[in-house]
Amino acid sequence: MRSTIVTLKMFVKRTLVKFTSAVDIRPLDKLITSKYVNLPQPKNKFLQTYIWIDGTGEQLRSKTKTVSEQTNSVKDVSWWSYDGSSTGQAEGENSDIYLKPVAIYRDPFILMGGVSDNPETNQNKLVLCETLDTDMKPLKTNWRSDCEKTLKSVADQKPTFGFEQEYTLLDRDGWPFGWPKMAFPGSQGPYYCSVGACQAYARDLVDSHYRACLYAGLDIAGINAEVMPSSWEYQIGPTIGIDAADQLWISRYILHRIGEEYGIQISLDPKPVEVGDWNGAGCHVNFNVEEMKKKGEGLKAIEKAIEKLSKRQRTHMRHYDPAFGKDNKRRLTGEHETASYKEFSSDTASRAVSIRIPRQVADNQCGYFEDRRPAANCDPYQVTNILVKTVCLNETG
Ligand code: ADP
Ligand code: MN
Ligand code: MN
Ligand code: MN
Ligand code: MN
Repeated sequence: MRSTIVTLKMFVKRTLVKFTSAVDIRPLDKLITSKYVNLPQPKNKFLQTYIWIDGTGEQLRSKTKTVSEQTNSVKDVSWWSYDGSSTGQAEGENSDIYLKPVAIYRDPFILMGGVSDNPETNQNKLVLCETLDTDMKPLKTNWRSDCEKTLKSVADQKPTFGFEQEYTLLDRDGWPFGWPKMAFPGSQGPYYCSVGACQAYARDLVDSHYRACLYAGLDIAGINAEVMPSSWEYQIGPTIGIDAADQLWISRYILHRIGEEYGIQISLDPKPVEVGDWNGAGCHVNFNVEEMKKKGEGLKAIEKAIEKLSKRQRTHMRHYDPAFGKDNKRRLTGEHETASYKEFSSDTASRAVSIRIPRQVADNQCGYFEDRRPAANCDPYQVTNILVKTVCLNETG
């Protein structure tokens, strides 16, 4: 009992230190806000919100500006810059970091008013950016730059990715949303894919996110409640090339923004609750290339890919969370539907392995495979990059 209390205190301390920054913020009155955000937007004024990954490699930052030109392609969007010394990405003296726009999406937050909110005509945009230093070199946290090169080199094989993004809702004090304070809800069992007031927490947020992602133009494929109460999943894909990882980052941005509105924090920590019998949060990546889709023969290509992956467990684990494997160690314990961090394993239809071949894929002898190792807070550019390097480019070591 005593040791449980001590561990619980440590857990609380860790979580609070990590997440608490705004415990006393009172939610703002949305009725007042609606007076102003619904004011019509003047002609020839459009808003662009630039979004980038900060020095943590996990958190996102954004800032917005007004432009006078419509933008239908990312090529129409100009470069911008920001103060990298305030995001853990530069020293004080030489702190300007370039923002290179790489993809645009419809903005589901700042609408234009009236008919212009139609998804086909809304000209307010979310602008996903790469970060470059003054010498135009990608920052350490800019994994996209190399990933794009890799994926382009195998474009003829149409590398296709489907992400299952799991996440956990936390109150502002860092405790899981809807859980009794400093205590635990009933044990796991009734929550996965659940319905009901005491089973599924904050569905409004989940549905809002779903709709906002669709409006933005993302390939969001579905949602479900997860095994631990107040944890959820959504899927992005199947999507070809760099577009898949770009979309996953934007979907995370939208999720954090909607969390702001509800006063709920979004945690992508791979093991948010370490005390007790609670599942962690992953980001399974489903992957294939053309030859894996071929009727009858695809499975052979999948098995060959798995053989290559089996020889690179340590390398892959370094790319599957932003802490080079440290975060994922807490999650990949071999319990709670995970495989061991140290050992590679694969099987058909099993959820206790590194790589799973879905049952239907084995039946059809073609399709895709699922890499269950990436953590919820993984950088999808790192994951898709190393997958293609190993499977398609035969990189070893
Ligand atoms: P489970 O929870 O059983 O692992 P989900 O239904 O949550 O499976 O997710 C399945 C994922 O597989 C989705 O992200 C989907 O986009 C992806 N997927 C389906 N077909 C393909 C494919 N051909 N290539 C890559 N990903 C795929
Ligand atoms: Mn300033
Ligand atoms: Mn799933
Ligand atoms: Mn899941
Ligand atoms: Mn899965």
